[in-house]
Amino acid sequence: MSKWKTTADIAIIGGGIMGCSTAYHLAKRGQKDVVLLERDLLAQASTGLSVGGIRLQFSHHANIRLSLEALRLFEHFEEEFNVDIGFNQVGYLFMAQKKDTWEDFLDSVQLQRQLNVPVEVLSPEEIKHRWPYLEVNDIQGGTFGPKDGYADPYNVAMAFANKARKTGVRIEEKTKVTGIRVEESRVKGIETTKGPISTPIVINVAGPWGGEVARMAGLEFPVKPYRRQVFMTKAFKDIPKPVPMIIDFDALYYLRGEGPGILTGMSDPDEPPSFNTNVDWNFLEKVIEKAVHRAPILEKAKILKGWGGLYTITPDENPIIEAIPQVEGFFCAIGFSGHGFQHGPAVGRILSELILDGHTDFDLIPFVHNRFDVIKEKGEKRAV
Ligand SMILES: Cc1cc2nc3c(=O)[nH]c(=O)nc-3n(C[C@H](O)[C@H](O)[C@H](O)COP(=O)(O)OP(=O)(O)OC[C@H]3O[C@@H](n4cnc5c(N)ncnc54)[C@H](O)[C@@H]3O)c2cc1C
Repeated sequence: MSKWKTTADIAIIGGGIMGCSTAYHLAKRGQKDVVLLERDLLAQASTGLSVGGIRLQFSHHANIRLSLEALRLFEHFEEEFNVDIGFNQVGYLFMAQKKDTWEDFLDSVQLQRQLNVPVEVLSPEEIKHRWPYLEVNDIQGGTFGPKDGYADPYNVAMAFANKARKTGVRIEEKTKVTGIRVEESRVKGIETTKGPISTPIVINVAGPWGGEVARMAGLEFPVKPYRRQVFMTKAFKDIPKPVPMIIDFDALYYLRGEGPGILTGMSDPDEPPSFNTNVDWNFLEKVIEKAVHRAPILEKAKILKGWGGLYTITPDENPIIEAIPQVEGFFCAIGFSGHGFQHGPAVGRILSELILDGHTDFDLIPFVHNRFDVIKEKGEKRAV
């Protein structure tokens, strides 16, 4: 066991994609004396439980910009890190049932095209022609992003962590941060289950526990954890591969191919916030109902397994990414809803610039926490 070091230049709280990516980007810039504290094991919480979706099709320009940057990294990840991340550009098909939703989609397509995102607008007939197993009678239309896809979130996070470790970042697993010492509105250090660390800089990338960690610094942010359940079928040959990520937007339902099976799930608008990640097998019935409505052949599929994880959600479903003005030395990147995995590579770079340069070229105005004082409407339309 290595000797506990009681000082650090920078302490990162949380070893998911955000913490690992930030550690990597700080190390890449030559920053020494960084410690990452993870209360459990790396990438076991939201990151490891995510379904790894990567898309350029967002409705908010800031999210599209984060995705464009991350996509460049995903496309070259294997060369740069020598790690297979299973990056699979199967595409994302968004489908709208309601007229209003369809109009919103078309507005988003305009924005996406302005930012050079390749996206196709498809009629129900064109959707049926390309994916004959889909029921399209109640669909207004769809948009398809051919560059979208998915990758293995665990392997991506571990690749960042391993490079960071090799470059000198100390990674302390099974070490919970229990307090943050703030004096005269400045960070002075942290308390952990292994002992205290004096440090002038603390980064809160604690995912679903981000609100709890912010409270340790005396701050109250509107970030809440919500369970998301995923189900996986046994090998299923009746739907030809590749199966893109198919999002039935108004039904809050999705499916995509995963190995020989089909991965499927939906969000539950009635689910209250909690840290519960148990699988509710009664909920599976609702998922199957939506699945069989959209792809009737799925009636023949058999469920192999299910699991639950946590989304971290803010009132406008966009994150807080910021050097917090009220507490000098306290940085946050929390509240990523269903898109934190794919935005992790870009957010790590942005945080490293904020910390090392005092500014970043990325416009963080949409992500400052005090927007919640004035903005009540939703920023990003949640996909699922
Ligand atoms: C079912 C599901 C599907 C998803 N699908 C997608 C998708 O398709 N695409 C996508 O981009 N995103 C997806 N997401 C969202 C994505 O997983 C998250 O946004 C992302 O993983 C957040 O990363 P993070 O590092 O902020 O949080 P986490 O991965 O949760 O990491 C936070 C870490 O902080 C640690 N921690 C917390 N408190 C403390 C403390 N006091 N001391 C020390 N350590 C602490 C935790 O143990 C945890 O390991 C999905 C999420 C779920 C649950």
